[in-house]
Amino acid sequence: MKFGTKAIHAGVEPDPATGAIMTPIYQTSTYVQRSPGDHKGYEYSRTHNPTRTQLQNAVAALENGTHGLCFASGMAAIDTIIKLLAPGDEVISTNDLYGGSYRIFTKIFQNYGIKFHFTNMADLSKVEALVNENTKMIWVETPTNPLLNIIDIKGCAGIAKKHNLLLVADNTFATPYLQTPLDLGADIVMHSLTKYMGGHSDVVMGAVVVNDDGLRDRLAFIQNSCGGTPGPQDCFLVLRGIKTLHLRMERHCQNGRKVAEYLKSHPEVEKVYWPGFEDHPGHQVAKEQMRDFGGMVSFVLKGDKVEDATNVLENLKLFALAESLGGVESLCGHPATMTHASIPKEDRMKAGLSDSLIRLSVGVEDAEDLIADLEKAIG
Ligand SMILES: *Cc1c(COP(=O)(O)O)cnc(C)c1O
Repeated sequence: MKFGTKAIHAGVEPDPATGAIMTPIYQTSTYVQRSPGDHKGYEYSRTHNPTRTQLQNAVAALENGTHGLCFASGMAAIDTIIKLLAPGDEVISTNDLYGGSYRIFTKIFQNYGIKFHFTNMADLSKVEALVNENTKMIWVETPTNPLLNIIDIKGCAGIAKKHNLLLVADNTFATPYLQTPLDLGADIVMHSLTKYMGGHSDVVMGAVVVNDDGLRDRLAFIQNSCGGTPGPQDCFLVLRGIKTLHLRMERHCQNGRKVAEYLKSHPEVEKVYWPGFEDHPGHQVAKEQMRDFGGMVSFVLKGDKVEDATNVLENLKLFALAESLGGVESLCGHPATMTHASIPKEDRMKAGLSDSLIRLSVGVEDAEDLIADLEKAIG
């Protein structure tokens, strides 16, 4: 099946009890057993729930994996993956990692004896240089947030295979519509379903997909033991959302391109970050591993003043000033004062997160209206 057909049909079956074409919300915590241990595969909803099962199958199908697991948030998915490790183990990741991932790695798991190394993973030699006898995992996120750097997943998979490490890919920004990391050699794909997969800014959820039975069993054991599972209502919302993933992503990509090109030609804009530009350092890798370049665009204003960025953000009307991304509506954000405010200015500048950097999650509205909104706000 091609992607759009899979988004609508794969992994989901009409409800066996009633024929309902849309998966019902099985709002139940427990299931009746005929005789002790004699049940229909469902015992307790932390462990299994039919609405969640269908969503897990659908997400797995889209990622070309065999097993999916859903969680109460993207962070609960990350929490479960890192719990595969033990004290003394080491992880290599990127230095412009999602802030929440950086926080759980350094502020939570570091206290449990797991060590994390952060480097510029666009340079694969830097990744391999950090491998030692304690290394167990490489954690990739691509494109990155908010500078939209690109990491070569296949290249990382080569290093992971050579040293017998698990390769994890956070595929939240790209979604399986744009790239399928398991096909490129990753062992585990994770998602914040809160973003493009849900797509309607109405739910917080996460997912993990693998194609190895043993890995699935270990992750499911941690999921059930630690309990970061989602409710059936949220699963229903994401099931509904992913049926239009291909349509939304197509428009996100078209609009992202139009907005990026508009901003690049604007006299008040210093620099635009978007992997679709030929002079983007990751453009070639992006072209190889992604179907298109997505709807995330970041830019810096001439003069790089916080006040100017604040002005633009206050004057944007269609782009709502808010955290998060990937919904149908366009959002804008200011990393220096919002998502990345806790990073000292010097470190922030070194990482390229300058004072006037604005991040756009370009939605699926009409591009002409979005560009008119930017035109009015930037002046
Ligand atoms: C939002 C996000 C997460 C965390 O997911 P939640 O659903 O907010 O817990 C992880 N990784 C990336 C890239 C994200 O954008």
